[in-house]
Amino acid sequence: MAYLTLKDINKIYPNGFHAVHDFNLEAEKGEFIVFVGPSGCGKSTTLRMIAGLEDISKGEFLINGEVANQWGPRQREVAMVFQSYALYPNMTVYDNLAFGLSLQGVDEDVIDERVQKTAKILGLTDYLDRMPRALSGGQRQRVAVGRSIIRKVGVFLMDEPLSNLDAKQRVTMRSEITQIHRETGATTIYVTHDQTEAMTMADRIVVMKDGYVQQIGTPRDVYFNPVNMFVAGFIGEPPMNFIRRKVEKGCIQVGEHSLDLSLKLGDKIAEYEGKEIIFGFRPEAIVLGDQENAYIISGTVELTEMLGDNANVYMDVDEDKSILKVTPHEIPAMDSYISFSIPVESVYLFDAETEKVI
Ligand code: ATP
Repeated sequence: MAYLTLKDINKIYPNGFHAVHDFNLEAEKGEFIVFVGPSGCGKSTTLRMIAGLEDISKGEFLINGEVANQWGPRQREVAMVFQSYALYPNMTVYDNLAFGLSLQGVDEDVIDERVQKTAKILGLTDYLDRMPRALSGGQRQRVAVGRSIIRKVGVFLMDEPLSNLDAKQRVTMRSEITQIHRETGATTIYVTHDQTEAMTMADRIVVMKDGYVQQIGTPRDVYFNPVNMFVAGFIGEPPMNFIRRKVEKGCIQVGEHSLDLSLKLGDKIAEYEGKEIIFGFRPEAIVLGDQENAYIISGTVELTEMLGDNANVYMDVDEDKSILKVTPHEIPAMDSYISFSIPVESVYLFDAETEKVI
């Protein structure tokens, strides 16, 4: 049985705004689930409903098979880490970690053991006597995470816990949180708008947009089998390229090349005759030059960005913008006219009307 079940969960705020629509999810015990999506898509609202900080307007929420809609946060046995981590400024790191347990009346010995263990997991052992103001942002964030993991809870809820850190600290904390999750084995729900965090940390990703779940799947699923243009464009960096064209005689014309879509769709392409279709491919899926069993496209190089281990090439393709990812040795000259190939299996076609993958 799933540990957390969300059945057709909806949130309608008192002002009438419908922030979350029919959210369904079954999270297994120990799973690391990431909610990802642009600002305002309802991630935090859903997390707060799971935490018991926000009423569920409609739908059923179960913990271990029991309906928990009316349970308070404590009864739900959840711990939450917020974006803005409020540490007690006048308490040492040790006391910040110990505070919640002291309130619960836990024995001093037990508290000490748990503080030491938590500090060890988070690399805070040398800082236990320090005040928060004498810590770096990353260290403070670790104390904030420590305060939630020190309690033995069934579920960790994390709302953009890394958003106040710089890029380097984020990468470090990302792997630390994954490590902590492995050690504690607690079911975790993690909210972020950063697709890289989602891809690197999640067992399963829930992609949201405008209050609706778009897709739930493993990082591989959402990357290789996106259900629609939104997921295809949101997951992956740089994002997937899209070219919109009208289908004529089973083909689309992109600059000098006529691309035969029956190679990808077979007879099904007939349904799209005379209609617009979206041709999608990832920047990293291309090979420079002309290849067999591939769609060949040509365009003009507008800008190149050397990133070290790879480079981005910004192209004008028949007045559409596309980005290609190449190795540093392949960077083409500015303003040159080049061809590249996309293996047929790496092309995604979307219905231009529904934006769903075909
Ligand atoms: P972000 O990444 O910016 O935190 P989010 O995906 O977490 O975004 P939510 O905070 O869940 O989004 O908000 C979802 C929508 O609900 C937004 O449009 C927001 O303006 C709206 N909203 C949030 N709280 C309330 C409220 N108390 N009353 C009315 N509308 C609200």
